[in-house]
Amino acid sequence: MSIAENVAAIRARIDAAAQGRRVLLVAASKMNDAAAVREAIAAGVDACGENRVQELLEKNAQGAYAGAPLHFIGHLQKNKVKYLVGTVDLIESVDSVELLRMIDARARKLGVTQDVLLEVNIGGEAAKSGFEPSALPEALEISGEFSSLKVRGLMAIPPVAEASGASRPYFARMRELFIDIGAKKYDNVSMDFLSMGMSGDFEDAIRESANVVRVGSAIFGPRNYGERT
Ligand SMILES: *Cc1c(COP(=O)(O)O)cnc(C)c1O
Repeated sequence: MSIAENVAAIRARIDAAAQGRRVLLVAASKMNDAAAVREAIAAGVDACGENRVQELLEKNAQGAYAGAPLHFIGHLQKNKVKYLVGTVDLIESVDSVELLRMIDARARKLGVTQDVLLEVNIGGEAAKSGFEPSALPEALEISGEFSSLKVRGLMAIPPVAEASGASRPYFARMRELFIDIGAKKYDNVSMDFLSMGMSGDFEDAIRESANVVRVGSAIFGPRNYGERT
């Protein structure tokens, strides 16, 4: 199957699950080269998502993302903030107040407003980053002080699913958080995007109101971790 065929098949499955709602398909393109990324964009994905800053900058320099919005979806180290702000359209993976503060400071310096999502550690996993759900109100409250960024929604990566359907309760919990926060008024916050669901579970995520899905291997094929180019 070609990338174009994969994207068409995924789009059909998204449409069936979304029942008329609009869902953005983000191509999670880590470890796939600029040519593959361009193929995915030509096939009509809505955005590209990268995990590593270095890889993003290299591929960006090669023009990989021309014609599509660019999202950062990986763990963001504080010393890399300066490379991303103003370069990417959306940082999906903000996981601390300190990072919010640094993104805001950098955006102010550049005279831009940076859109971000707050990553939620919905499985309460020690090894995963993201805000605990109980820490969200404070982070949202303080976002009001950061006028050079805008919190546009939430992102989550649930625990690795042991069985089909196992992620769904986590997606449902995210949906509740998304709705609860959306009902409140926080400055610099608007709950526009709920980003959850990957190759193995994006339909369940959509059924629980995801309107952004991040799909990698189902578009590009399996990643070869043994062999770095
Ligand atoms: C790699 C990755 C994806 C896509 O994973 P697949 O299972 O290949 O679809 C989605 N989100 C994040 C944050 C990722 O790192």
